[in-house]
Amino acid sequence: MAKKFSHISELVCPKCDRKYNPMEIQTLCSCGTPLVASYDLEGARETLTKESLKNREQTMWRYHELLPVTDRKNITTLGEGMTPILKSERMGGKIGLKNLMVKDEGRNPSGTFKSRGSASGVSKARELGIEAITIPTNGNAGAAWATYTARAGMDAHIIMPVNGPSVAKREIISAGANLYLVNGTIHDAGDLADRLSESYGIFNVATLKEPYRLEGKKTMGLEIMEQLNWEAPDVVVYPTGGGVGLIGINKGMRELEEMGLYDNNITRMVSVQASGCAPIVKAFDEGKEESELWENSNTVAFGMKVPKSLGDFMVLDAIRSTNGTAVEVTDEELLEAKKEMGKSEGIFMCPEGASTIAAVKKLVESGDIDSDERVVVINTGSGLKYPNLVEVDAPIFEKGQEIILESLEEAGQ
Ligand SMILES: *Cc1c(COP(=O)(O)O)cnc(C)c1O
Ligand SMILES: [Zn+2]
Repeated sequence: MAKKFSHISELVCPKCDRKYNPMEIQTLCSCGTPLVASYDLEGARETLTKESLKNREQTMWRYHELLPVTDRKNITTLGEGMTPILKSERMGGKIGLKNLMVKDEGRNPSGTFKSRGSASGVSKARELGIEAITIPTNGNAGAAWATYTARAGMDAHIIMPVNGPSVAKREIISAGANLYLVNGTIHDAGDLADRLSESYGIFNVATLKEPYRLEGKKTMGLEIMEQLNWEAPDVVVYPTGGGVGLIGINKGMRELEEMGLYDNNITRMVSVQASGCAPIVKAFDEGKEESELWENSNTVAFGMKVPKSLGDFMVLDAIRSTNGTAVEVTDEELLEAKKEMGKSEGIFMCPEGASTIAAVKKLVESGDIDSDERVVVINTGSGLKYPNLVEVDAPIFEKGQEIILESLEEAGQ
């Protein structure tokens, strides 16, 4: 018998344990909870080995046994995944960390890690015969779904707050998707998507309403393990909106551990949010299992502007079960960290990614992270997607005029 391409076995409700068939279209559990894909890990480990990985393509599809697409021909790809992990010695030194590493998701095709979730979601939708999708978005997810549906030849209806980021709007239009703007928040966009979906039978891929974007995001966890040579880091720090990335990284690491690819995973998952929208941090501090809707959310890091996530209980569980924590940082702090990372590492971070650096500073100061621990922060996107966050302050010269520097120091001598 030919080896299976995917070892997905079923979709499981984490609350009530009901099971669903992944070869039929599924959304939420009948109890209203997001469904989570489960795999035959015994079967997967027959072909997914440290050795076999050495010869595979440099995309997230190298882990196809642990992804939901069962037939290779349904894969929709633009080369997403296998982003580098960059050592950040200069910044680590400033903060007091010997091993600070940045997984740079800005290298993905749509400029953020959202490429991963939409690549897996679109590919699986194609496998299930879906021809059109709708999605509410703060910007980056919509841009990624527009990009991958274009690649797949599917139709996309994308709904964004009217004051959403202009780069994302342009990416969506460039990908030929239908863009609708709403006077309101992502939740209001969500209402419009629900109604569009009900009226026209268009598949709604809102965060965690379809089970497969989590699987794409999970590949960040798989890559971290492989790229660090199967030695689990002590801490992973993640800028959290809906929290799918954090849930996914932890899920991926658990699956590899269960397959026996490494042992004794004690990686602490740390969630970072902006002070202007920190429902997960609040719920964590208060010892609650779910978050409350955050009123008047406000932050420049729009990817983290999620007032209430459907998967909040899973994020909180991933943090607590790994002995992690949740931290908030102000916009001022994250913008300062963004600047410092550009200058001291040459990494042009998105504000969400930069929040992880601001958080790590705090956690080293408070003693929650030791100086010799190995810390991986996720830069979820490229700073190029946020051009307005950088002010241009530069002198202007006339043609032929000479540039005079005041000191040798200024000249870098
Ligand atoms: C969407 C997004 C996030 C938050 O991701 P979740 O996995 O939903 O928590 C963080 N950073 C950027 C750049 C994003 O686009
Ligand atoms: Zn259920």
